[in-house]
This record gives sequence, structure tokens and C-alpha cells, in this order.
Amino acid sequence: MVRRVLVGIDRDGTINKDSGFFGSSENWKDELEIHEGVVEGIKLLNECEGLKIVVATDQGSGLSRGIYDLNRINKVNKEIWSVLVEKGIKIDSWQSGLYVGYDYAKKHKIENYLENKWVVAMDDVRLRDRKPGIGMLEKGCKEIGCLLSDFDKIYYIGDRIRDVETGVNAGGKGILVYNGLNGEAVEEIKSCLDSQQVVVDNFYEACKLIVDGV
Ligand SMILES: [Mg+2]
Repeated sequence: MVRRVLVGIDRDGTINKDSGFFGSSENWKDELEIHEGVVEGIKLLNECEGLKIVVATDQGSGLSRGIYDLNRINKVNKEIWSVLVEKGIKIDSWQSGLYVGYDYAKKHKIENYLENKWVVAMDDVRLRDRKPGIGMLEKGCKEIGCLLSDFDKIYYIGDRIRDVETGVNAGGKGILVYNGLNGEAVEEIKSCLDSQQVVVDNFYEACKLIVDGV
């Protein structure tokens, strides 16, 4: 039987370089830079039979703060996806999380958040998409035509702690990739590593671990 593996991948800071709210600048297309090892790494994953890839990007913080709109997010997603496709990469589903909860709005002092369409109550089902929630992975699976529970192994690759938590919450492993800017997250995860959490130096190494079945 073909072993079925699901790999979730974060976008900003993991696939593309990001110094914060990528896509907010008018020159975002010129600023787009894919991290080293991403193309080679995903190609390695694409060679594995029964392995599916879902890119899952949380964009609720930028949306709720009015830093960019949904149209811009869709354009950025499309552009990054097409850059990867041009390099011969296959991604099975691409999902965006669009909402934040009241807790986020209060913490970041978003004014009139009760009238903000991207800010929802803490028990709102749409908040399931926000990492470390697994809603985007579930939606990706639905688009592929299966369920999260169909997979024997699940991994989530990202540059933040909540990416690692997403992998664990999905019943799999979380892989934190060092990207040159997230040293603090790396140190934090390293101090409490368990068998479901892995820290690697670059994206390619994360993919190599997955292919090796770690
Ligand atoms: Mg990220």
C-alpha cells in the first residue's frame, strides 16, 4: 500500500523571504525572493508517491489591521504559486486563513473591532483556520478529495512556533526551519523539544527528513 503523507507548508518566512507583512509594499513583486532550498526541497517531496502538499498561510493579522486587502493576498498567493510551478513544482492545495479572534484585536488595539469583518468571536468556526488551528489543512484535504485522517503521516513546515504547533495539533510533527530571522523561535523550541517537534537549519533539510520518514 502506498504510504500517504501530508505536508503542510507555511508561506511567509518559509517559502518566501519576509520581513513582515509581505505583500504590503507596492513593489512586492520585485521584493519576492524564494528561500534557498525551497524549490529543491519541494521537488524532493514531489517525487514521493502518495505525498500531498498544502500551503497554508495566515493572513488575518494584515487583513484585520487594514495593511492589505483580500485582493492583494490573492495576487501574492497566485504569484508565488506560479513562480514555483514555473520551476516544475507541484502543490496540491493553497489555503489562506483570513480571520483573527477578539483576543488578537484587543492585544493589537484594533479599533472598532466588533465591526471589522476579519475579526470574529473566539468560538467562531472560521477561527479554526488560524494557526495553530488545523482548519486550513482540513480544507486542503477536502480540495484534494480526502480527509486529514486518511494520512498515515502529517508534517507541518514553518518558521514560527505556531507552525510547529499546527503539525502537532494535526496529529503529526511540526518542523521549524531557521530562516535567518527567527532565532528566538528556534531557541524557544529547542528548549522544550519533544518527539513531535523538529528544528532544522534550512527548508531542504526539512524535506529530506520527511522523505526519510523521520
Ligand atoms: Mg511564517
